[in-house]
Amino acid sequence: MSEDPKGESAVLRDTAVEARKAATEHDSAMASRTGAAQANTSGVQAQQQQKDEDSDDGEDGSIIQRLKRILHLDNELRAGRAPLLDSFDLQGIASYIQSGKAKRIIVMCGAGISVNAGIPDFRSPGTGLYDNLSKYNLPRPEAVFELSYFRKRPKAFYTLAKELFPGAFKPTPTHCFINLLAKKGLLQRCYTQNIDSLERQAGVDPDLIVAAHGNFDGAHCIDCGRERPIDQVKAAVLSGKPCRCSTCNGLVKPDIVFFGEGLPERFFRLTASDFDDCDLLIVLGTSLVVQPFASLVGQVGENTPRALINKEKVTGGGGFSGLLSGRGSSSSFNFGDSNCRDALFLGDCDEGIWQLSRLLGWETELKGLVDDLPVVDWEADVKDSAKAVAAEESSDKKASL
Ligand SMILES: [Zn+2]
Repeated sequence: MSEDPKGESAVLRDTAVEARKAATEHDSAMASRTGAAQANTSGVQAQQQQKDEDSDDGEDGSIIQRLKRILHLDNELRAGRAPLLDSFDLQGIASYIQSGKAKRIIVMCGAGISVNAGIPDFRSPGTGLYDNLSKYNLPRPEAVFELSYFRKRPKAFYTLAKELFPGAFKPTPTHCFINLLAKKGLLQRCYTQNIDSLERQAGVDPDLIVAAHGNFDGAHCIDCGRERPIDQVKAAVLSGKPCRCSTCNGLVKPDIVFFGEGLPERFFRLTASDFDDCDLLIVLGTSLVVQPFASLVGQVGENTPRALINKEKVTGGGGFSGLLSGRGSSSSFNFGDSNCRDALFLGDCDEGIWQLSRLLGWETELKGLVDDLPVVDWEADVKDSAKAVAAEESSDKKASL
């Protein structure tokens, strides 16, 4: 019991009132998860325990008994595992990075990091993006990202793509922080669910990015499968006219993963080695509901600390891969009593990132990166692409005459 000096000294510092509160909270938390443990207890013991608990309330002497039980249970739960972080917050993460233990950091990100860039959650109806699509009478909003619908009415997607096309938005401080990690040689990889390419626009080397749900960086014909120049797609997006394959006249689609499509091969190829090597996982702006992306949280080793910076607490995510990898339920985020490695910041991503940067002493560098972001005039850029494509096509026609 006294083998847990951190727990004991913490308890000794507590006032009696706080201790009683802790005991009550702990018991109620335990009540929901001790089903299995209680099943191992004989009926008589269980009854006795219940009786003890009922009569303990309000008795100062029994608080000590109760605290002893908590320490005992904590020891059991931790099963000898010492905390991997000094504290389970941004300070804990900053200290861990400063200690030099984090040299291969993986960042996982979702829509939450692009909200401050002005990109709405385009998969949700009622965000404004879909208003322009009303003339297409979509059977359901998601249809715009379905291959069968795209074949029939590609214009709907091309209309939406105009609003989402990279270059129309500016990366956020969070995107710049990912670039800062890369510049310091600490970024193993950035796995993003976002299709906005803002990580690349912030300066992150494309080799360090895995766009799990694809992006507008490339395009393919959906019939013959040939790769098509993205400039042609850009020009088509601007004109609102779907792009056709010059070989088979099939429709050309930017490399965004549509509903029902498999994830890019690169995602599966890199996850295996990346997550085995990872020594710190930072999850930014995602509630980890979309699989298989969410399951990556459980693919880091059990001795790898993890951080979640998000508007809401997420405790799921790892279960799916936990089952596959045999790491069990410990692969999900755990912010409960038995937590030994998961740090949490609840709030706006950029706010969390500025705080973390301050704690790391990186604030000035991050500010520099934010200030130096290039200004992209994507419409002018696209017009140039359109001119280039038109010139190419007319020279092709002349050559064939
Ligand atoms: Zn084709």
